[in-house]
Amino acid sequence: MSDIIQLLPDHVANQIAAGEVVQRPASVVKELLENAIDADATAIKLIIKDSGKTLVQVIDNGKGMSPTDARLSFERHATSKIRSADDLFSLNTKGFRGEALASIAAIAHVELKSKQESEELGTLIAIEGSEIKTQEVTVTPTGTSIAVKHLFFNIPARRNFLKSNTVELRHIIDEFHRVALAHPTIAFAMYHNGSELFNLHESNYRQRVVHIFGTKTNEKLVPVEETTEVLKISGFVGKPQFAKKTKSEQFFFVNNRFIKSPYLNHAINAAFDGLVKDGNHPIYFLNLTVDPKSIDINIHPTKTEIKFDDEHTLYAILRSSVKHSLGQFNIAPVLDFDYDTNLDTPYNYKDKGAETPTVEVDRDYNPFREERSSGKQTSSFKKQTPNSWDSLYVGLESKGTRDSQDFSQVEFESEPENASLFGNQLQQDNAQSTYQFQNKYIISTIKSGMLMIDQHRAHQRVLYEGLLKSVTVKEAVSQQLLFPLHLHFTGAELTILKQLQSDLEATGFVFSAIAEGQVEITGLPINVPDSEVSIILEQLISDVEQEVPDSHFSATDLLAKSMAKSLAIKTGQSLSNLEQEHLVNSLFACKEPSVSPTNRATFITITIDEVDRKFM
Ligand code: ADP
Ligand code: MG
Repeated sequence: MSDIIQLLPDHVANQIAAGEVVQRPASVVKELLENAIDADATAIKLIIKDSGKTLVQVIDNGKGMSPTDARLSFERHATSKIRSADDLFSLNTKGFRGEALASIAAIAHVELKSKQESEELGTLIAIEGSEIKTQEVTVTPTGTSIAVKHLFFNIPARRNFLKSNTVELRHIIDEFHRVALAHPTIAFAMYHNGSELFNLHESNYRQRVVHIFGTKTNEKLVPVEETTEVLKISGFVGKPQFAKKTKSEQFFFVNNRFIKSPYLNHAINAAFDGLVKDGNHPIYFLNLTVDPKSIDINIHPTKTEIKFDDEHTLYAILRSSVKHSLGQFNIAPVLDFDYDTNLDTPYNYKDKGAETPTVEVDRDYNPFREERSSGKQTSSFKKQTPNSWDSLYVGLESKGTRDSQDFSQVEFESEPENASLFGNQLQQDNAQSTYQFQNKYIISTIKSGMLMIDQHRAHQRVLYEGLLKSVTVKEAVSQQLLFPLHLHFTGAELTILKQLQSDLEATGFVFSAIAEGQVEITGLPINVPDSEVSIILEQLISDVEQEVPDSHFSATDLLAKSMAKSLAIKTGQSLSNLEQEHLVNSLFACKEPSVSPTNRATFITITIDEVDRKFM
């Protein structure tokens, strides 16, 4: 029989390798930024068009390449960074495989311009799908510019597989953050479709973190410094009260390389044990420096996972250093969840100082306001009884932080008249047709038996349909705020918010300004208490990040779902009889009463027959 094994042609091998190295535009961003850093650049520019689908370009002022090197750089296993296998154990560079440029050139149109300091002229090379189209002499500044256009132009399946522009941009920004955080002494700028997203000057680490994540971050940071024989740790953790619902501000760098390590993450969580509420994630930006010999970064093609020789020791050191810092900066003793359960709110209202209202607000918060008020189609405000605002602001008052504020003013402006509709005087309702069970289910009787309604899911359904309606009909009523709220968001979060802005406005939000790092809100939907705004928006952003709608329709749907989830009365909340009845009535006025927005049963029925049978 004849032989059947053949060597794959280079361009095929490169395409296959590209599958591993280049998953999406963000992978190109990572590889190009890392090459620029390896070339000792001090200023790096990233230019993106259409979330990288049309263009990813990186311009650096590094050492550049000779004409021969420029040509060779596109060959597979062509690298200037290692010469022998031994070098793998003392890596000081980001790259070493010599695969990135070859892979990228196999699946895109690439234009490279490069010049070394000592030369007058530089080199221009154009490659399309591994095929050299041009190589010529050109005038270009010292350094390298690589433009990657039409990614996956020859692999339609991969191109179609790319997610929406929002998602791809999100991934790019994530990579940009990681690289920029690991190298504060290098200046970075990023542009998307012609507008500047970041302009980061050479700085120290703290400044870099603050420039990326916003000025409010500064006060959240607690330094962590530790030097031991095996490990040096430097960086910051966030004070426990600023822990987030998402893991978007958790960064580990090992020898200036971003890595993911669930194990080391666990060490941080252990240090925060008891200080952060369940489901919240502490913020951290930590740099670990270890002997390159003690790690193996070769185990993953995109190199975000590494293996340590002695993980257990690292774990112990990390945990105790973080604990120590939290203690030293007097963070731990201040914590008292009984005193202020809103400590986990990551954003402070600028005008009100750090103290936000306590959880008492929730108890007074009436979930049925929206239905009532939208029925009336009015936004008139009326003064409430002193009792209700007393409890509404009890957290602030007890701390004496706002003595000079005129609370009656606040309440006058921001409380809709129907807020006390379910006040105590109305609750002496006698004929009881519903019953609340375990503060979780509402039991109601029907002809054929009985209904058991999940209060949280049922209310989600009611709010969800209401929100969808207001977004589509744009009839929402807004409560005007006397003091505008100022909330802080990262650039990436703002991008998401801007996309949802018109839908949010249709629900009643009024944004007076969305500027760099900050959002000013002057109006809220009638059923949203201002103490909840930052939580709702943060949850929404996190939902969008995770779910990623592609079409406008599903974005609206996601917004309605997310807000309904945040606003719905919770399991464990006790409801007055009137509230129970109102919820039941509203549920059955819905188009689809039987399931929650996430398609789970809102109620079950138990028939008389079933009950009878039990007694047989
Ligand atoms: P690796 O980074 O693993 O060596 P790459 O394919 O990313 O492999 O790059 C191949 C080579 O091209 C590098 O080793 C380097 O010599 C050269 N190179 C790539 N990008 C640049 C740049 N921006 N400036 C100078 N040289 C570069
Ligand atoms: Mg490289």
